[in-house]
Amino acid sequence: MKTVNVALGDRTYPILIQGGLLRRAADHLGPLAAGRRLVIVTDENVRHHLDALREGLSGAGMSSEAIVLPPGEGSKSWAVLADLCDQLLTLGVERQDHVIALGGGVIGDLVGFAAAILKRGCRFVQIPTTLLAQVDSSVGGKTAINTPAGKNMIGAFHQPALVLIDPDVLDTLPARQVRAGYAEVVKYGLIDDFAFFEWCEHNAAGLIAGDAEARNHAITHAVASKARIVAADEHETNGTRALLNLGHTFGHALEAEAGFSDRLLHGEAVAAGCALAFAYSARHGLCSGQDARRVAAHLAAVGLPDGVAATGITASGAQLVDLMRYDKKASGGVLPFLLAKGIGQTFLDRTVDLADVEAFLDEQP
Ligand code: NAD
Ligand code: ZN
Repeated sequence: MKTVNVALGDRTYPILIQGGLLRRAADHLGPLAAGRRLVIVTDENVRHHLDALREGLSGAGMSSEAIVLPPGEGSKSWAVLADLCDQLLTLGVERQDHVIALGGGVIGDLVGFAAAILKRGCRFVQIPTTLLAQVDSSVGGKTAINTPAGKNMIGAFHQPALVLIDPDVLDTLPARQVRAGYAEVVKYGLIDDFAFFEWCEHNAAGLIAGDAEARNHAITHAVASKARIVAADEHETNGTRALLNLGHTFGHALEAEAGFSDRLLHGEAVAAGCALAFAYSARHGLCSGQDARRVAAHLAAVGLPDGVAATGITASGAQLVDLMRYDKKASGGVLPFLLAKGIGQTFLDRTVDLADVEAFLDEQP
């Protein structure tokens, strides 16, 4: 078993990674939750894994309750949040009880936020079941719901007590979702880890096809990278954590244009956004054209969008830049961009001129 500790000031919590961990969750939840209530919240597509988790718990003499929500981004809403909080209160959940988020990023963000506000904060555990959630959203303590004003506009930082990652649960995840999650894996190589990018070039195909060794290595490496970045900047105040947004400003505009729908998954938008961030950097002589082409070629080789055209979105530069202005990261009229001096050399630039970004986007094939 691999363990990555997330160290945050005076608190540390472990992320455990191992195939088959779901059925053995009692070994780790037992000491944490002795005598306390366990409520598992999941979505309908994850029912199969819910059964496995509960069987393992009951085999170890631990009782649990379950709440099953509808799948999809629509569940990150005020209405579902309110209903979930009411259900947890009806079950009598107290601060020292554990709410378990078993699912993808939607369940993790929603349940984490419910745990943050329920009785001013109760304990929670993440058991992520998508690649995206395993390498990104379950780590770091960001929780949120969406409102008509935008995605993730209402939320809180609320760290889990424990994260259990069982890569085997990805066997049931649709290939398109695996590929989209992979965009957040390779992102760590692009940010500050050229050697990991090279590893990705050689192993991405196997990882996406379900090779257990490649999958476990990638998840462990990605989680360790995220834990390191989050530990350096838990509440996104000194710029370090912002590195994780590589590809997300361009990507967010594409996602918004697609209406945050299945037309373009988050990871697909991030892939296109990373290719654009490198192309834009190359246009300004910050990184070489060769690096930008290498990034795009890798994304295309694994079947991810390598630019605007490959996303199927046909918006003008002006439309996309307009959507960027509503980005949460915009502050005082300045929108910080993640640009690159090379693969593994990403940096935050607060001086990017949006008129120039618009012209760049209009030039894209
Ligand atoms: P998701 O939770 O919607 O999961 C994708 C689909 O896969 C859903 O239909 C789900 O029901 C299904 N599914 C989940 N696990 C499965 C499994 N093992 N087998 C079969 N089907 C399964 O989406 P996601 O991509 O995991 O997460 C996206 C969300 O994460 C977005 O809302 C995004 O804002 C959020 N996010 C949060 C953070 C953070 O730091 N908190 C970071 C990145 C993304
Ligand atoms: Zn992301």
